[in-house]
Amino acid sequence: MIDRENVGDPELLREAAERAIRYLAGLSTRRVEPAADALAALPKLFFDLPADPTPAEDVLRRLDEIASPATTATAGGRYFGYVIGGSLRAALAAHWLASAWDQNAVFADTSRAAAALDRAAIRWILDVLSLPAEWGGAFVTGTTTGHLAALAAARHAVLESAGWQVERDGLFGAPPITVFAGERAHTTLHKALRLLGFGSARVVPVATDAQGRMRACAIPRWSGPAIVCAQAGHVDGGAFDPLPEVIAVARAGGAWVHVDAAFGLWARAAPARAHLSTGLEDVDSCAADLHKWLNVPYDSGLVLVRPTAGRALRAAMAMHASYLPEDDGGDPGRFTPEASCRARGVDAWAALLSLGRRGLADLVERSCRHARRFAESLGSAGYDVLNDVELNQVVVAFGPDDATRRVIDAIRREGTCSCSGTTWNGRAAMRISVSCWATTADDVEHSLGAILRIAREIAPAPTARAVP
Ligand SMILES: *Cc1c(COP(=O)(O)O)cnc(C)c1O
Repeated sequence: MIDRENVGDPELLREAAERAIRYLAGLSTRRVEPAADALAALPKLFFDLPADPTPAEDVLRRLDEIASPATTATAGGRYFGYVIGGSLRAALAAHWLASAWDQNAVFADTSRAAAALDRAAIRWILDVLSLPAEWGGAFVTGTTTGHLAALAAARHAVLESAGWQVERDGLFGAPPITVFAGERAHTTLHKALRLLGFGSARVVPVATDAQGRMRACAIPRWSGPAIVCAQAGHVDGGAFDPLPEVIAVARAGGAWVHVDAAFGLWARAAPARAHLSTGLEDVDSCAADLHKWLNVPYDSGLVLVRPTAGRALRAAMAMHASYLPEDDGGDPGRFTPEASCRARGVDAWAALLSLGRRGLADLVERSCRHARRFAESLGSAGYDVLNDVELNQVVVAFGPDDATRRVIDAIRREGTCSCSGTTWNGRAAMRISVSCWATTADDVEHSLGAILRIAREIAPAPTARAVP
């Protein structure tokens, strides 16, 4: 029985919007990491599921009262942990509308609108990133799934060249494939490789420099089918592998080149940063996400392939069943590991249109400027900025490892901002990732004030000096 009160009740949806607006309005004054008492209330979510329905407005009220205070304020301007963006307002609003549409974007037959928005958004993405318009692409859940799709295409193509049909015959008995990845490749690249049947022992690690950039000359000689995995934007320091050199080595041996461009992809939209990913236009495939630096809601990723690789992607992702529509080339789901999926192109389309070319370039530049400001201020206070700050990422140490870890903990407890940790060339370090449109110069100064105050208490800097 459908409860008519809960269907078509505009008050409920207005109430949801009101609560969301109140939440967003509170972001600038609340703690970034949730308070202890908010976390202590989370057990209230666990109770026996009632036998009878609960009115939708009660459901919403409980959710907001219990969970909203316990969220991490990643949608605000002072969250610098991991690499996490907040949703642009146009993307969020479009996402709400698209949730009401509730389209399944797998086939054009299930939603012409979703398929068209996907195509339109990918055209804009290729254009704004100065990638060839003939490239193919599809929206997936994130970079991890983008890797999975792209590397499945790679596996198809390199084995096909060796006379092996992997989709039919699998990997048992197949010609061996050599896989190269930088020593500091992202863990999700390895995860995708493992899921595809490339055991971790098959991946040949390629030496990197102090910034985590692959040394193309360190790729060993090989023969037979091969895949070279490069990176555009290291997760800690933001460094880019030297793509032209990597591509030259790979092409000489007939290897497929795949790039992890999770957030680094968007640097191409800013004229002053575009040179960092020179060569990306010549690779076979790349995976990236939109939920980080393009600031669209989760979960939103992208697989991009050059025209000659499109066929391999499609072959690797093929689905056949008598009840499915004819494959006429217009189905987003023919290029992705997922079948049913939400219309991710909507958020991308809205984000790009709301920003325009200039707005996107400015989002990137602003983030990089803020990162530079963090680095300069922390460096001149005497702390060790460990990476070359060329993008939106700062890696900093506050003396001995233990002191650095205590500084990170104390920053998170204090609440003004939040950062996360890592190990950088063997040393404990704090990462600052500026990836949210909402971060203002005031947010940066306010956060620096808190970070420096805490750091001075825990780890007084030996001497003040300037950033190199
Ligand atoms: C975040 C990230 C990933 C994984 O992306 P998801 O969208 O979380 O799947 C891969 N590589 C790099 C460099 C990243 O920063």
